[in-house]
Amino acid sequence: MELPFAEPWRIKSIETIRRSRPDEREAWIREARHNLFNLRSEQVYIDLLTDSGTGAMSAEQWSEIMLGDESYAGASSYYKLKESIEEILGFPHFLPTHQGRAAENVLFSSLIGTGNEGQGMIVPGNSHFDTTKGHIEFRHAEALDLTIAEAFDTESEHPFKGNVDLERLEAFFKATPRQRIPLFMLTITCNSSGGQPVSMENIRGVSALCKRFGVPLFIDSARFAENAYFIKVREEGYGGKGIREIVREMFAFADGATMSSKKDGIVNIGGFVAFRAREDFERAMTFNIMYEGFNTYGGMAGRDLGALSVGLREATTFEYLEARIGQVGRLGASLIAGGIPIQKPCGGHAIYLNALRFLEAVPRGEYVAQTLAVELYREGGVRGVEIGAIMADRDPVTRADRFPALELVRLAIPRRVYTDLHMEYVAAVVGAVWERRKAVTRGYRITREASILRHFTVELEALG
Ligand SMILES: *Cc1c(COP(=O)(O)O)cnc(C)c1O
Repeated sequence: MELPFAEPWRIKSIETIRRSRPDEREAWIREARHNLFNLRSEQVYIDLLTDSGTGAMSAEQWSEIMLGDESYAGASSYYKLKESIEEILGFPHFLPTHQGRAAENVLFSSLIGTGNEGQGMIVPGNSHFDTTKGHIEFRHAEALDLTIAEAFDTESEHPFKGNVDLERLEAFFKATPRQRIPLFMLTITCNSSGGQPVSMENIRGVSALCKRFGVPLFIDSARFAENAYFIKVREEGYGGKGIREIVREMFAFADGATMSSKKDGIVNIGGFVAFRAREDFERAMTFNIMYEGFNTYGGMAGRDLGALSVGLREATTFEYLEARIGQVGRLGASLIAGGIPIQKPCGGHAIYLNALRFLEAVPRGEYVAQTLAVELYREGGVRGVEIGAIMADRDPVTRADRFPALELVRLAIPRRVYTDLHMEYVAAVVGAVWERRKAVTRGYRITREASILRHFTVELEALG
């Protein structure tokens, strides 16, 4: 008999969370103006708002917090991280930053410019993350999304929905002068399309085209370890290879990488930008010193550099990834078994509920995904996030609401934080709302909103 799977860790320290009563939640969500970002964390039982910076560190990582060397220059914690990055990702140079978007700021300042020099430039990629797109557009350049068409079909079981459409990329490179393409940005896994991986074959293909047309290839590597796991279990020829070996092969195709360590670094804050060539590193150094800090600490405390050096090693073990991605998959499988419409196949870090198929009676103009997210909170104190019309914001010219093709509620799973019993509870909450879905016929009206990134502060009033 094969024994069942169990996590490769045990719990040393716990944090108390409290189940609230329905009447308390009713009052709290009204006070929060039906915006889940306005809730205090104590008002949430299971918090699936994001997997960013919310992971649990190991005893080894906490030891590094104590050992942290806070010297301004040449700290031993910096050298520990340098060794990890070189060994695991294979990049000889890096600059620490306070998080992923700061790494983007440093890299794009160096490759595009600090003002509007990006005018007329195009950065191709696969569904650029929103801060990446923000930093590109901030410089008046354009982010061109070349993700394969299957990524936008929630029912397609394509194993690598983060892949780049290589034919479109080649046509783009042929039609566009080289000086208008400062870099190609490859995001692994692809967050915006549901934590979907990119295959090694596709990375190889992107790299070959970039080399042929002389365009630098950078990897947005927030969830690189999860991507490597998917390559191992889904791509032909990789089943027998180790995670570290796959990671080295992925990054060998790139000229550099940006990293949000709050994801696969399993730390609460931090990031970096890494380079293969010394001259690329030296060009970016000035911007890191101006925006972040001196080269050997950048935007991070010594203790955080040390904790990250260990986090990168832990995140790239098969045992950790099997538990992590397995947990997300088990939650997904249990929802699918209950007939609940979710995006397939399940990604590495989150489950996405298809709100348009969940709450069919709620009108599009009344914010369907937001309505579902609020119902999950009311039902059981579970906090997810709307990825729908509220997040898509208004058209900058007409000021009309933009309605994306999909209305999704993302349930992002923090790393090593919740048990499978918590996930069973989440599935039960989703199931209970599914049972009473036909009774949910009205959504919300916006009473107050900011002119940009309105989802963080929007205020809503219930209709009906
Ligand atoms: C989170 C994330 C970023 C930005 O990182 P922050 O640490 O939040 O600034 C960039 N790209 C991807 C793919 C991400 O998931």
